[in-house]
Amino acid sequence: MKELIIAINSGSSSLKFQVYEFPEEKKIAKGLFERIGLASSMDLTYSLDGGKSSRSVKGETHEDAVKYLLDFLLEEKIVADLSEITGVGHRVAHGGEFFKGSCIVEDESLKKIKSLSHLAPLHNPINIMGIEAFKNNLPACPQVAVFDTSFHQTMPEENYLYPIPYKLYEEEGIRRFGFHGTSHQFVATEAAKSLGKKLEDLKIISCHLGNGGSICGIKNGQSVITSMGFTPLAGIMMGTRCGDIDPSIVTYLGRKKQMSFAEIEQMMNQDSGFKGVSGISSDARDIEEAFEQGDPKAVLAMNMFCGRVKQMIGAYAAELGGLDVLIFTAGIGENSPIIRQLSCEGLSLFGITVDEERNNTRQAIVSQENGRVAVMIVPTNEERMIVRETNQLISK
Ligand code: AMP
Repeated sequence: MKELIIAINSGSSSLKFQVYEFPEEKKIAKGLFERIGLASSMDLTYSLDGGKSSRSVKGETHEDAVKYLLDFLLEEKIVADLSEITGVGHRVAHGGEFFKGSCIVEDESLKKIKSLSHLAPLHNPINIMGIEAFKNNLPACPQVAVFDTSFHQTMPEENYLYPIPYKLYEEEGIRRFGFHGTSHQFVATEAAKSLGKKLEDLKIISCHLGNGGSICGIKNGQSVITSMGFTPLAGIMMGTRCGDIDPSIVTYLGRKKQMSFAEIEQMMNQDSGFKGVSGISSDARDIEEAFEQGDPKAVLAMNMFCGRVKQMIGAYAAELGGLDVLIFTAGIGENSPIIRQLSCEGLSLFGITVDEERNNTRQAIVSQENGRVAVMIVPTNEERMIVRETNQLISK
């Protein structure tokens, strides 16, 4: 009998899935339900053997999508019986300080995840809906929660606390959590594997540069510092997010322009970053195109973005006390030679080099032959990490 594990990533109007066969860890199906709750039907796009197909599906809720997905797996003969699904792993945005790793979702842990919703009000409630939909439709199948935050729970106190009154940590739980943990952990593991080294023996900086972006310093296989903070707004400049700015700008705008908290939040989350600086787009491809044509705002946005990545790399190399591997991943990190090159420019004092030919042709290792640090492109795959974690937990 087959053993299949499904990875689920539920968004406010979407549900993304990937189905893997174990023990081979072979991906056999993936798909995406979109426009959930926006009308009486939703759109499903899926791929079974590489080809892409789509259909319209009746239903309005995440639960309708899950029911349809299970029927679809039977209809497409991906499973002969639903008991072949041995586990479902769910991406969960926030595990707070409580979840130091992934967990099988029982009543108690579900309650705990719900109680952390104030930390990720746009995400945790939706992730919970996904878990509950599967619990209702596959009651005998273990559900596993894989948290975006848990990889960073190994950060030392001096790196996760903010220099504000300590009681705000004690009373309100204000601290750095960090996000993209599943991605940072996955690419670090894959990088060590492809170098034929033990993860525990490497000092690694992982740059997850997508529409959202974060950088993580990894030592002994553990996250010791990361650039996102209490929320995913902190750290490097992003597609529409400002990243780190002087916090007084918030109060200044409130006083000077009578902007409300909601307006300031909108400005920092949706109207800043590439989009805000360039006035062109939040999409790195558009910025690159305008940069190549010499558009001054695009040049500025590009220099600001790469400059901040570079500063973070330097700071994290200092934190790690050295560096063996520098990883670029996610949409920008994997696909933009110019951003990799500019972010590494001038870092030869840390042993960081970029070979132009290797970088432009997207080789796995883009550093120069004699470069001390292995600069690598490692495609991220959060779904694969989610099914791996799920498999580990259900096999115990
Ligand atoms: P993600 O959030 O990981 O899906 O990444 C999205 C970001 O990756 C967007 O800013 C895209 O513009 C960027 N991206 C995707 N493909 C490319 C490419 N070929 N060159 C530059 N940026 C890219």
